[in-house]
Amino acid sequence: MRLGALEAGGTKMVCAIGNENGEIFERATFPTLTPEETVPPMVEFFKQHQVDALGIACFGPIDPDVNSKTYGYILRTPKIPWRDYDFVGAFKEALNVPIGFDTDVNGSLLGEVYFGAAKGLSDAVYYTIGTGVGAGIMVNGALLHGMQHAEAGHILMRQEAGDDFQGCCPSHGHCFEGMAAGPAIEARWGKKGVELADRQEVWELESRYIAQGLVATICLLSPKVIILGGGVMMQEQLFPLIRKEVTRLLNNYLDTKELRDMDHYIVPAACGGDQGILGCLKLAEFSL
Ligand code: ADP
Ligand code: ZN
Repeated sequence: MRLGALEAGGTKMVCAIGNENGEIFERATFPTLTPEETVPPMVEFFKQHQVDALGIACFGPIDPDVNSKTYGYILRTPKIPWRDYDFVGAFKEALNVPIGFDTDVNGSLLGEVYFGAAKGLSDAVYYTIGTGVGAGIMVNGALLHGMQHAEAGHILMRQEAGDDFQGCCPSHGHCFEGMAAGPAIEARWGKKGVELADRQEVWELESRYIAQGLVATICLLSPKVIILGGGVMMQEQLFPLIRKEVTRLLNNYLDTKELRDMDHYIVPAACGGDQGILGCLKLAEFSL
């Protein structure tokens, strides 16, 4: 099978050709400009390679409900040229092949479930902590959609002692994303995260907010593993701090074999950055 994969991000679109075993043969990247500028070269790429199916994992909010009138659309995104855009429709019309469509984070989670840190598991969560915060969620072997898709980046947070930053989510102020995404770090400390690498207090505080979000996630969804990706998680010193704080916050309330082995419970992505593309290949396969 020749499968097409498209990881659609706010700054770039990563396209690839591969198969259901996660082998990737070809790649191309296009900057995210407007649909009129960005979609035709991607269509051309997939046409050239004669794909049998296409999997798209896209920044949100999106409509992933196949029974909805706006299935396959990008919805009320702040990226204005893409708002209310029929993304799946554009590829369907041009390529006429089956298309799988989901959120970027559900795509990354799917990649990790088949090829990475959540291999073989049917209950797992993938968080990206980057420009925003979002989570892909699998429960009982199915990616969670519910009424649209999860918005785990907007879990409300309580202010940590000694932090007077009000948060930068335009809708909620101090939600997970408003307190802990890359832009929140920059707004709070006046520098980008990458320039704050040696400031212990930055990552101590960051880990406390991330831990709040993860404890809510653990209590609600009971995942068997939590994978953390995205630019902010390039700060590897966060992992031990987050594990310790999650353990402290749970305060022995839960006692499971997974939680007793924190080093293997809260983990980095294991697909070397390809989790999104690998997930798209699976979305393509499942659309056939
Ligand atoms: P996006 O979320 O836009 O897809 P990223 O996951 O790379 O992209 O996230 C970008 C955010 O992560 C920015 O706010 C940036 O400052 C932050 N970031 C990127 N690299 C690092 C790093 N090495 N350390 C800390 N923060 C980083
Ligand atoms: Zn919010």
